[in-house]
Amino acid sequence: AKEQGRNRYAYFSHIMQERAQARRQLIKDLRACIAAERLKVHYQPIICLETGQMRKAESLVRWNHPQKGPISPVEFIPLCEETGLIVELGEQIFKTVVRDVGRWIRDNHAEMQVSINVSPVQLLSGHEVSERCFRMARNAGIPDRTLVIEVTEGMLLDNNPFVIQQLRQIVDHGMELALDDFGTGYSSLSYLKKFNFHFLKIDRAFVMHLAAGTTDYALCDAIITMAHKLGMQVIAEGVETEEQMRLLREAGCDFGQGLLFSRPVPADELGGWLASGAPP
Ligand code: C2E
Ligand code: CA
Ligand code: CA
Ligand code: CA
Repeated sequence: AKEQGRNRYAYFSHIMQERAQARRQLIKDLRACIAAERLKVHYQPIICLETGQMRKAESLVRWNHPQKGPISPVEFIPLCEETGLIVELGEQIFKTVVRDVGRWIRDNHAEMQVSINVSPVQLLSGHEVSERCFRMARNAGIPDRTLVIEVTEGMLLDNNPFVIQQLRQIVDHGMELALDDFGTGYSSLSYLKKFNFHFLKIDRAFVMHLAAGTTDYALCDAIITMAHKLGMQVIAEGVETEEQMRLLREAGCDFGQGLLFSRPVPADELGGWLASGAPP
């Protein structure tokens, strides 16, 4: 039995070592690809549920690994956070978004709002995220309120003064704030009053099982009512079916985002839709 235990230990330890090795390699590849600015930004349309118009989109980073193909941000963003690479990547994303949205606005003389996901590590890095983003936006000549910064509620929990100051500055600098993934974290409503969130994004987990008369419908309905009372507009994530869209509209939800409308697409594709006036 002792012998068997030792074998099993050797086996697991071997697996752990391989995993650690694979992780180190992935970080190395990530570092190289970020240095070469090889990561891309895609945009997912956000649709007004009343008019069907698309005047908003969320930017989502994409990494096509030279050998492994596309790797999900769910996998590589945490690696970027652990290694600090998120600061440089975040900067590249800001730069790309400001350039793309600037072009859409110029080409179409249209209003457009694009949201950017900002990680807590980025906000806490000491780099003045709001200041840098603001300067890039001003240099590109894009109007106030074009950029929306998405943060998750986890970031607000410990009342970190630096985070609070950064969020206030984002608003002072003419950008808007969205509270991402609402309902998945600790969802204390008290902090909603403290910050000037313009948008609340209902997490996909609530939208997924939406059906008339369900608890999830009651929850969505209540969240939407509450958000409106606090002066926020609501964006539902992960809208995949007509039925979900109908129920969300019935509950008074302002915007929807999801595969029903469009997957995240390259900048040119979204620009094409804006130019042709055709909804996705
Ligand atoms: P998120 O901010 O909640 O982004 C929404 C995710 O849901 C995206 O996944 C999007 O492609 C996916 N999605 C959209 N519509 C649907 C739908 O109808 N059904 C389903 N099943 N999924 C849908 P993605 O692009 O893989 O990103 C995953 C997460 O990675 C994001 O979640 C965000 O937390 C993080 N992330 C993505 N891009 C960035 C970025 O540029 N910066 C940072 N810091 N994080 C990012
Ligand atoms: Ca988001
Ligand atoms: Ca989200
Ligand atoms: Ca999410």
